[in-house]
Amino acid sequence: TRAVAGALEEWRPPARVPVSLRDHRYDVVVGHGLLRRAGALLAPVLPQKRVAVIADEQVASLHLAALEHGLQQAGIRFHTVTVPGGERSKNIGEFGRLAESLLAAGIERRTTVVAFGGGVIGDLAGFVASATLRGLPFVQIPTTLLSQVDSSVGGKTGINTRQGKNLLGAFHQPIMVLADTDVLGTLPGRELRAGYAEVVKAGLISEPELFAWCERHGSALLQGDPALLAEAVQRACRFKAAVVGADEREEKTDGGRVLLNLGHTFAHALEAEMNYDGRLLHGEAVSIGLVLALDLSVRLGDCPPAALERLRAHLTATGMPDGLRGLTGQSPPLEAERLIGHMAGDKKMRDGRLSFVLVRGIGQAFTRNDVPPALVREVLEAAGA
Ligand code: NAD
Ligand code: MG
Repeated sequence: TRAVAGALEEWRPPARVPVSLRDHRYDVVVGHGLLRRAGALLAPVLPQKRVAVIADEQVASLHLAALEHGLQQAGIRFHTVTVPGGERSKNIGEFGRLAESLLAAGIERRTTVVAFGGGVIGDLAGFVASATLRGLPFVQIPTTLLSQVDSSVGGKTGINTRQGKNLLGAFHQPIMVLADTDVLGTLPGRELRAGYAEVVKAGLISEPELFAWCERHGSALLQGDPALLAEAVQRACRFKAAVVGADEREEKTDGGRVLLNLGHTFAHALEAEMNYDGRLLHGEAVSIGLVLALDLSVRLGDCPPAALERLRAHLTATGMPDGLRGLTGQSPPLEAERLIGHMAGDKKMRDGRLSFVLVRGIGQAFTRNDVPPALVREVLEAAGA
């Protein structure tokens, strides 16, 4: 039967997706059963057989034993600190507490910081690694789909301040990323869907074949099929590695890393309006934002309506959020003017016009910085604002 076959299933060696930067290169290792083999996988790249693990509390309760076992087997010494999950941990206080806790534990210049959790832990631990002793080696072990397909690759780290999200941070590239698809088995379905939105986004930006793959396999992937999850993580990491390799520090103004923001101008406005309080996950906002960005592309005459219809059909088929109507039950309802106000504050405004990532079709993203706010209002109102 299925359970017996699963238990007897052979361990398959992981896939490696290389990330090549100007003066640094690392692998994203994608596969199953990686935590128990973490020591053997990491040993070749660690400068010292010693690590400081910064772990999400929830992830630690479920998966830390496997990771520690893997480190022990390779004779790697470790010191573990846990952090409560959730966006609120990405703050200056937590940053200071972690840095001091590592220093108190006597870490040295060659001790590697290991982030073990979702994007919140990756961003926070990465920033701690970037600044403590002026920069420590860093490893990402992402445990959410979002962090496996997106945030663990590319070297952006940071925390939030009173003034907004990710305003304090650094580029600090990892020396290795271990994406173990087994850990996704304990991830709540809502978090899985949120991460999937970034896979769909990658397809829309420059990989029409990935978008078509999503259409074929998205529903089964969201049921938790491990082989499909592993393939999605590999495909999305290959996509992100290529984008980041061509524009490591987001210096290109049209094309490059900026295209990764497809759907994100709308998403950030929705998140800001809902005060980042957990009612709307980032990936849920991105899913809606993708529809709005394609709708805007159509209204600007840049994109055929069929591309938007294809996206809508896929999101509907997979139960992903695709508009504001489900959100408007809240009071006060979302207002187009307020959302546009957030976009203007999002540094996207130039001379009264808004800057957006748009598409000419599926897999053909580009930027435009002359979008009239009136058209953005039309899109938001059509979506239910
Ligand atoms: P998250 O880290 O908050 O994790 C989501 C929730 O899932 C948490 O409650 C966590 O405790 C729980 N969890 C994590 N792994 C689990 C597992 N395997 N089983 C059960 N529960 C688990 O959220 P996220 O969506 O992974 O990351 C969001 C963050 O990523 C945001 O702060 C965002 O700014 C950041 N981000 C960064 C980049 C980048 O390039 N650096 C890119 C995108 C997003
Ligand atoms: Mg995102």
